[in-house]
Order: sequence, then C-alpha cells, then structure tokens
Amino acid sequence: AAKAHGRGMHAVYRPEMSEALSQRSQLHERLKRAVETQALELHYQPQVDVSTGSIVGMEALLRWHDAELGTVAPDRFIPVAVSTGLIHPLGDWVLETACRQAAEWDDNGTPMRVSVNLSAQQFRQAQLPTRLQQLLDLHGTRAELIELEITETEAMADPKTAHQVFDRLCALGFSIALDDFGTGYSSLSYLRQLPVSRLKIDREFIRQVTHNDHDAVLVRAVIAMAHTLGLPVVAEGVEEAAQLAFLRSNGCESYQGWLFAKALPAADISRMLGGPTRPSALEQRYFA
Ligand code: C2E
Ligand code: MG
Ligand code: MG
Ligand code: MG
Repeated sequence: AAKAHGRGMHAVYRPEMSEALSQRSQLHERLKRAVETQALELHYQPQVDVSTGSIVGMEALLRWHDAELGTVAPDRFIPVAVSTGLIHPLGDWVLETACRQAAEWDDNGTPMRVSVNLSAQQFRQAQLPTRLQQLLDLHGTRAELIELEITETEAMADPKTAHQVFDRLCALGFSIALDDFGTGYSSLSYLRQLPVSRLKIDREFIRQVTHNDHDAVLVRAVIAMAHTLGLPVVAEGVEEAAQLAFLRSNGCESYQGWLFAKALPAADISRMLGGPTRPSALEQRYFA
C-alpha cells in the first residue's frame, strides 16, 4: 500500500513527527475543554507612565493552567487555537471578560483602559465591530476604555483590510495599538493614514537596549518615527531600571514590564487601584 502511495510517503514519515502531531492534538483537546469549561484566566499587566510612574492602563493577557499539561504559555497555545479555529470562542471570551472588567473598574471609581490582543483571524471577522458594540452594551463599558492590539506584522499582511477594520473600530470609539512594533515593515506613509493611537515596541528590542547599539538605534528610531506621526510609544518587557532610564531619556511615554509588575489576576489589580494613594516602594525608588 505504501508503494501505491508513492515513495514520497516513506520519505516524509518520521517518528518524531507523529510525536509532535499527537502532542499538538492533545494540546488542542485540552484547550478545547478549557475553553468550554471557562478554565482559562485573564490576567492584567499594568502600563506605567514613564515620567510620573502612575498606572495608565492594563494589558489583558491569557493564562492557562491545565491539570495534565501544567502551565502552558500563550505563545504555545494561541497558535494551536488559531490553526484549529478555537481562537473564535476563545477570543470572544477574552473580549467579553475584558469589557466586563473595564466596566467594573469604571463603576468602582477607578477607570482603567484595558488593552486586548486580537489575532488576525478575529480581526478579519466581518462581525467583529458589531460583536464589540454588543459587548459594550451588555456590560455598560465605555469604548474609550478598550484598546485593541494587533501586531504590526499581522496588520501589514493585509494592509487594506487592516485600514478598513481600524476605521470601523475607531468610529465605535475604540483605540488601536500596533503591537510588537519594529518587527514588521510598515512605511511611514502607510502608518500616517492609519487611525492608530499608540505603537508598542517589541520586547525583543528592549531586552538588550542598554547593551546593544543596534537595538538602541532601532528603539530611538521607532520613538522618533512615532513622534513624527504624533503617536505615543509603549515599551514592552522592561525588567531593569537602566532600560527605564534609557526610555525616559529618549522620550518614550509609557512602559510595561516586570520592573513594575507581571500580569496579575484582576483581584490583585483591583487592590492595587483601590489601594492607598501613596506611591509604592518601587515608584518611590524610581520616581522620587
Ligand atoms: P504580547 O501581546 O506582545 O504581550 C507581551 C508579552 O510580554 C506577554 O507575554 C507578557 O507577559 C510579556 N512580558 C511583559 N513584561 C515582561 C518582562 O518584563 N519580561 C518578560 N520576559 N516578559 C514580559 P505572554 O503573556 O506570555 O503572551 C505572549 C503573547 O501571546 C502576547 O504577546 C500575545 O501575542 C499573545 N496573547 C496573550 N494573550 C492573548 C489573548 O488574549 N489573545 C490573543 N490573540 N493573543 C494573546
Ligand atoms: Mg500585546
Ligand atoms: Mg507585544
Ligand atoms: Mg509579543
């Protein structure tokens, strides 16, 4: 039978491939269950104003702990969700949870902008704007409290659609950030036409920014380009005080990173927001 299918069949088969395949299908099965039973969690990472040290927003980040697989990182399970279509129910759950949470913080007198990551597949769904409006109505969420993040690379893969969808989302009052900026190939002239509110510099460029001249040049160039367009910049993955100092001296508006806080459960963030108004030890140290 193998012969009938041609010699190519033998050439492609390798045991480690079927292993990878079955791992992937196990991941898919577990993820499907987790989505159905709402076993995923949405955590929130503070975004901080570089010059004042105050919290200006939160990025919503998915967290999954599975009984059998342990903790699985989004970089592992999001691609599986995308390739199996699970991204649609999963992404919808994320959007609804984030809208509900933003409304809750707003109602508690501690309004916070919440940034939500969108994959290209969600983004290309014609009903996305309608669904988002529905979620706002359902939870009493103000659109200006929701920012939608789409990676530069995914936006550039289909610039025409990106432009159209951004326009529709903007008209509803949402703001849009280009995520992982610096890894794609946007031109200044294209960016100028897009109704984007912020650029987020990819963590990869921040990691070595105080040690690697190329990264320092790139980060400065992204900040300069953003400012030419009148856009503020958010830096991701700030772990060290020296990185923050670099960003401050180069005019970057805000940052997120472990230096300030990792992504935390909503209850911890609520305590942080509703807590005492005096600055935390961290803020005192860096912003005195
Ligand atoms: P992203 O949107 O670029 O998110 C930033 C990533 O950097 C997050 O990784 C965050 O935890 C991590 N990070 C933040 N500060 C630091 C730091 O100081 N040091 C280090 N080492 N890492 C830091 P995470 O949570 O693992 O998410 C990875 C990616 O998975 C995200 O990248 C995003 O593309 C995707 N993702 C996460 N949640 C969602 C979601 O709800 N929907 C979709 N479509 N994608 C998501
Ligand atoms: Mg993001
Ligand atoms: Mg990012
Ligand atoms: Mg990223």
